[in-house]
Amino acid sequence: MINILKKNTCCGCQACLNACPVGCISLKMDDEGFYYPKVDANKCIGCNRCEHVCPFLEQSESKKENPLAYAMKSKNEELRAKSSSGGIFSEIALSILEMNGVVYGVVMSKDFRRSEFARIDNVSLLSPVRGSKYIQAYVNDSYKLVKRDLEDNKYVLFSGTPCQVKGLKLFLQKDYDKLFCVDLVCHGVPSPGLWNKYVEYLEAKYKANIEYVNFREKLIGWKKFGIKIQGNNISRFLDSGSDPYMIMFLKNYSLRPSCYNCKIKKFGSLSDITLADFWGIENIMPNIDDDKGVSLALVNSNKGEAILDLISNRIEKNEVDFEKSIKYNPAFYISVKAPKERLKFFDDMHKMDFKGLQKKYCRKTIISRLKQFVKKTKVFSIIRRLLSRGG
Ligand SMILES: Cc1cc2nc3c(=O)[nH]c(=O)nc-3n(C[C@H](O)[C@H](O)[C@H](O)COP(=O)(O)OP(=O)(O)OC[C@H]3O[C@@H](n4cnc5c(N)ncnc54)[C@H](O)[C@@H]3O)c2cc1C
Repeated sequence: MINILKKNTCCGCQACLNACPVGCISLKMDDEGFYYPKVDANKCIGCNRCEHVCPFLEQSESKKENPLAYAMKSKNEELRAKSSSGGIFSEIALSILEMNGVVYGVVMSKDFRRSEFARIDNVSLLSPVRGSKYIQAYVNDSYKLVKRDLEDNKYVLFSGTPCQVKGLKLFLQKDYDKLFCVDLVCHGVPSPGLWNKYVEYLEAKYKANIEYVNFREKLIGWKKFGIKIQGNNISRFLDSGSDPYMIMFLKNYSLRPSCYNCKIKKFGSLSDITLADFWGIENIMPNIDDDKGVSLALVNSNKGEAILDLISNRIEKNEVDFEKSIKYNPAFYISVKAPKERLKFFDDMHKMDFKGLQKKYCRKTIISRLKQFVKKTKVFSIIRRLLSRGG
């Protein structure tokens, strides 16, 4: 029977809940706003299925040495503009849907209070699945639905974090020829409870209902992305260094405890393709960087190679040396460190309103203000110009 004694030993993939044959596992949100499984011991029959499907308990090595690495972008400019990086997820999803397959990916819930998995079987439903949602997603019974679709002999694409892909694979217990799994290089997942608090704060402040969120809006470019939030009475865009929710995420305050020591980074997820932002492309292949988004695709299996062949006429694809490809993306190989104020941060999340949290944890240091000033005023280029005139 699964029993979470230490929070950092549960990644929240919900494989245990899907695997339980008697439905005795439910999810409870903890004080930090993350979901954890809770077993009803009276109903439990002691089969231990929940333990066998747990990615943190089943730590078999599945990491491939040096996968093939590609810098890729979709040739469809509209689709790429709406995607987090190069739009490769959408191109793969389109090819599966065109074969009458189904796609499992993450969408925002109707009220925009959480992110959750959705099953789609039609191209017209793909748009909400596109783009990264920086909130840990609710899986619900998606793994069971994937199994049902595979047993109905359908092509299935499943796209999620590495721990969710591993949870699905352990749940299925066997390989299916028609299953394709895509995971992401993952910085870590922020608290759903914190996101909910942010939405409540914005809706109260603007007397609005939120109707659209894009965590990776490319208005000022792909590299300096921002978050766009719209609704009746609200339309706001803040770059990722100014939006308080994104600052709390990127400063690593708001991540799930297990993300600071991610076991899946160490052992591998069993996905066919790993997608990421190709950070550093301007140094490695400056000719293809237009600041509109380039994906890094790492191919982990023959099926992964087959999917890329399937979409080859819709994408631009350049092979890159693997070591170079991850040089600027540390999230591929190491977990981020927990800031020393992390526990205090979540303690404050209960005591303070969102504005208070923002004031305390998103303050800019003198150095970062100075850097921003220098950037804004272009002080250095002015001095350089003056010096060169003087010479
Ligand atoms: C929480 C999180 C952290 C990430 N951290 C990094 C990082 O540190 N470095 C890096 O290079 N890339 C990171 N990525 C991946 C990156 O943001 C892009 O998703 C990736 O480059 C693919 O982009 P795309 O344009 O091909 O497709 P997109 O259309 O952007 O991909 C969308 C797909 O991503 C999946 N997805 C979206 N949100 C979630 C979620 N909350 N949980 C699970 N799956 C989700 C969905 O299934 C969705 O279909 C992260 C993504 C997420 C969700």
